Amino acid sequence: MDKTVKDNVITIDGPAGSGKSTIAKLLSKRLGLTYVDTGATYRTLTLIALENNIDPEDAGAILEIAKKSSIELDSDPDDINQFTRVKLNGRDITEEIRSESVGLAVSVVSKLPEVRKYLVGLQREIAGRNPSVLEGRDTGSVVFPDAILKIYLTAGLDERVKRRQKQNSEKRLPLRESGVKKEIEKRDSIDSSRKASPLIVPDDAVIIDGTDMSIEETYDKIKNLYYERIQLKN
Ligand code: C5P
Repeated sequence: MDKTVKDNVITIDGPAGSGKSTIAKLLSKRLGLTYVDTGATYRTLTLIALENNIDPEDAGAILEIAKKSSIELDSDPDDINQFTRVKLNGRDITEEIRSESVGLAVSVVSKLPEVRKYLVGLQREIAGRNPSVLEGRDTGSVVFPDAILKIYLTAGLDERVKRRQKQNSEKRLPLRESGVKKEIEKRDSIDSSRKASPLIVPDDAVIIDGTDMSIEETYDKIKNLYYERIQLKN
């Protein structure tokens, strides 16, 4: 295997609601990896735009504020049901970045190449500190193309809507099913068709369709692949 392979990084990409964060958290908890929720960083910049009445397509204005701000991600892998806690200049914005308004605008902000460049730098910096599992849309294709294991996790639309509904109600985020479905479909379409780092199956990625798999089955499959890759390398 190539010497440049990052044997301490797993990437998981895929569409909204495919189970990426649940699986990434399990890998983090059980294998001792840092969990990097890259979507939370795009949501944070979207909140910055909304709160400051900035046009979500105005990368310059968003970045001017973002670069002066402190953005902290803090995940508790023991609490699988909790989102990554995010702080913006010390203020907890964990719930705000999951709101419907952020959900609807985030794919517009994340289309902007300058925003992506800035956030990829931030994500690499966070993941560079410790062995990590990253999840998002471009973590295997752009952020860590040399990761030892790249997963593309997907599931059927109805199943993804159901899961997102369940997740929202567990986290007490009220969203109607029609709203969730609309948001997921819209984000998937923008995320897959944008010019800058679209959601694609990264080179050499293992595709897992989790529609009919339990979380534990999906976890086991990824863990076994990870161990196989490490053994192969040594
Ligand atoms: O993962 P999550 O649903 O929180 O991501 C929110 C949005 O952030 C995605 O719909 C996508 O527009 C953007 N995103 C991205 N690249 C990533 C992670 C998320 O463009 N690596």
